Amino acid sequence: MGFWENNKWQWELSWVRTFRIRDSIEWEQLHPLLLQAPIQHNEKDSLVWTLSSNGEFTVKSFYDELYKDVTPCLGSLSRKIWSGLVPLRIEVFTWLAVQERINTKKKLTSLGIIPPSESGCILCDSGPEDISHLFLFCPFAMEIWSWWWNLWNISWVWPKSLAQALSQWIFPGKGIFFKQIWFSSFIVIIWSVWRERNERIFNSKSSSTRDIKTLVLVRLWWWVKSWKLPFLYSVEEVIRNPKCLQWGSSKAPKPKISHSHLKNIAEVGSCKLILRWVVGFTPFSPSNGADGGGIYSGHLRNNWGDTLCSFSCPFPPMNPENVAVLAIHRAIQISLSYGTAGVQEISINSDSILAIRWCLSRSDGPSNLSFILNFIRSTRQKLPLFQINLQSDSNAQIRKISEKKRFVFSDEVIWEKYPK
Ligand SMILES: [Zn+2]
Repeated sequence: MGFWENNKWQWELSWVRTFRIRDSIEWEQLHPLLLQAPIQHNEKDSLVWTLSSNGEFTVKSFYDELYKDVTPCLGSLSRKIWSGLVPLRIEVFTWLAVQERINTKKKLTSLGIIPPSESGCILCDSGPEDISHLFLFCPFAMEIWSWWWNLWNISWVWPKSLAQALSQWIFPGKGIFFKQIWFSSFIVIIWSVWRERNERIFNSKSSSTRDIKTLVLVRLWWWVKSWKLPFLYSVEEVIRNPKCLQWGSSKAPKPKISHSHLKNIAEVGSCKLILRWVVGFTPFSPSNGADGGGIYSGHLRNNWGDTLCSFSCPFPPMNPENVAVLAIHRAIQISLSYGTAGVQEISINSDSILAIRWCLSRSDGPSNLSFILNFIRSTRQKLPLFQINLQSDSNAQIRKISEKKRFVFSDEVIWEKYPK
């Protein structure tokens, strides 16, 4: 084994057979390691745990060392995955997938459940189906990833493992909303690939990558709906133009608001939605040869002061108070036509004190407006948080906005882009 020479230990190892080339290489590696271990003449041998500073074994040091190498990012991934952006069962799926704990064919082969001959990927018919192949490198999955990257003009390179891929999956741009979309897109794509793989294996049904791309958008839209944000795009709009997902940034296209949209705003119950209308009118200019009359219009704003909707409608020559009543009536009609579930409050601001007095009274007002006034009164009774307020500069505001918008002279409701 060795001997002492001038108080220094010299190794002398004897071997039962002569070295092969591989043995010589190993010995060359072992010998310097042995020389690193100083052997003391007068001291007893002891075990030293090098992973802790005092040389003693602790479970924590062992755990830290294990996780340092296996998945360096599992802690931060855990926070990202369990953030409630996607349904719980899909969070569970993602959590298991990044730890390579879902039953891919390669795993089933290693457990002896299926023979190695059946371990091929069903999506591309090549390569053994393991986590990285299935979700990252399979040509089928890759086509979906490439499509997603191209949508946002981004090039991406995958690392080796799914966990590393997810830990690096950060959108290199601004905007909290799109960053959440970006993070969710990773999960929605691997989930969609997994579902497709299962459909093919267990139900013998297959979809094209084109179908899967649509499904990715549908699922994303569906999940975004649960984020309790006033995201106004319909699923059709998102499918037609995925740039809608950049909602809140200047790159997002203008949503075409359908009837369901105010309902969607209304569904944002936790935001305590208050719909505030400013109504007023702009008379036709006599220089255009107009003989009185004009356009009455209104702008709907949310709690944050963003304009959600505008309407405009021509009126014949009539008293300004009567026009104000028509404008208030129109604002109520639009609010009610979409239902009021979840809308905490509707408030309408007008600068006609007389019109407001008629609306708030039981029976005042011109007889030719009594039908409209009664409608306003009954709405007020049905909705306790319905107010009509005096705002002295509402007409000035309306004119300022209307000049910019150049309304056409027809009854028109324009839904605005939902701002940031
Ligand atoms: Zn494949």
